[in-house]
Amino acid sequence: MSQGNLLVVEDDQAIGRGLVRVLESQGYAVTWLRSGRPALAAAGPDFPLVILDLGLPDIDGIEVCRKLRMSHPEIAILILSARDQELDIVAGLDAGADDYLVKPFRLAELLARLRTHLRRVETADRTELAREPVEAGDLRVDSASRQAWRGDQALNLRPKEFDLLNLLVSEAGRAVTRQRIMTEIWDTEWMGSTKTLDTHIHSLRREIGPDRLTTLRGIGYRLDVE
Ligand code: CA
Repeated sequence: MSQGNLLVVEDDQAIGRGLVRVLESQGYAVTWLRSGRPALAAAGPDFPLVILDLGLPDIDGIEVCRKLRMSHPEIAILILSARDQELDIVAGLDAGADDYLVKPFRLAELLARLRTHLRRVETADRTELAREPVEAGDLRVDSASRQAWRGDQALNLRPKEFDLLNLLVSEAGRAVTRQRIMTEIWDTEWMGSTKTLDTHIHSLRREIGPDRLTTLRGIGYRLDVE
């Protein structure tokens, strides 16, 4: 992941041009797009940080932000908008933005915040790479390559099943609450329906063997170490 690569999404010519000039003078490589749809298409690990305007000609920036966050949980999103009401800012942060700066903004402040977010993305990146495989009994989970094995047998898991097994194996022998699973795997504290979790537990049991995973009624699950 190139750390200096920024995506600027801004339809205002003067602001866009000014941003690009300043950011490039600071050594960043900048790609400037003027609407939401091309930004959604371009976003990804090549751009660790997106500077996002809200009033865009095609899709509202809040919607762009929500979609970006869903498809690219690892990137930083900084909203830069003339909408200065508290409700707008809350909507932006709720849509998954890491930060919100109101126009007109102070340049030094924008640059300082950019540095902070880029640092965080870079650190998260390194943590991901440094993570060691975890084991419990004959189960082995390697989050760097996103592969899991039972003995010599590679397991065929869907992404969330993999994350779930990774969490349970890391905590092998200990209870993991449903609340924690929902927060860490599904990134939600919404407990209204945990049918998805039940489905995933069911198919996970099929892969790792039916009696490896104990249901703790009213609490959660525990992966037993044999
Ligand atoms: Ca605009």
